[in-house]
Amino acid sequence: MSASGVRLVLLGPPGAGKGTQAKAIEERTGARQISTGDILRENVRNGTDLGKRARSFMEAGGLVPDDVIVGMMEGELAAPVGASDAPSFILDGFPRTVGQASALDALLARLKLPLTAVLLFDADRSPLVDRLTGRWTNPRNGRTYHATFNPPKVAGVDDEDGGPLVQRHDDTHDVVVDRLATYDEKTKPLVAYYAGTGLLAHIDGLAAIDAVTTEVIGVLDARTGTPTP
Ligand code: AMP
Repeated sequence: MSASGVRLVLLGPPGAGKGTQAKAIEERTGARQISTGDILRENVRNGTDLGKRARSFMEAGGLVPDDVIVGMMEGELAAPVGASDAPSFILDGFPRTVGQASALDALLARLKLPLTAVLLFDADRSPLVDRLTGRWTNPRNGRTYHATFNPPKVAGVDDEDGGPLVQRHDDTHDVVVDRLATYDEKTKPLVAYYAGTGLLAHIDGLAAIDAVTTEVIGVLDARTGTPTP
């Protein structure tokens, strides 16, 4: 499948596999992963104004205000739209509130870019805390590993670029608990928001990584009518 027409929203609690699957879908289809968390963390690292506004919300496991996020995403989505080939993207971690979802609808309507699907990564609550507190992240590209379930070949080192892995500051137990509560309160209502659109597809977020990717590709092929090579 070419990237043409692959415009996805990945929805689900922290630790359900959105980032891992976004990277897998990007590799398989060429559609670009846009991770709001990765963009925000880069801004925090670089000390930009955006990073300064976002930092305290992120450290507390809450959400960065909608106006900040929507402004940031308008800029991001203008980039693939301006490119000469087919506009395609995988939104990983956006929208996270009903306000963000309606801003996205308005933006995509203006750009005449309908979504292909909203993939909801279903996951029971209890494994998510273990998944997140055992997670190791490559801060350069957002790729993640897990100390037990998906370890790198050498502890603390990324398999691909050979650089160091870190534990995210918000992957500590207490912040994880707050992030899950934030998801329930602010983001879960998006399941009802998208339920009536025909876009929503449930994915088993707790299956093995390759099995989840196979399920996702099956959904995309059915929606686009084109088999992925
Ligand atoms: P993530 O890497 O997706 O887990 O995001 C890390 C943190 O960045 C979240 O806990 C939020 O504080 C912030 N964040 C990421 N995406 C959004 C969003 N769409 N709206 C508000 N805050 C966000």
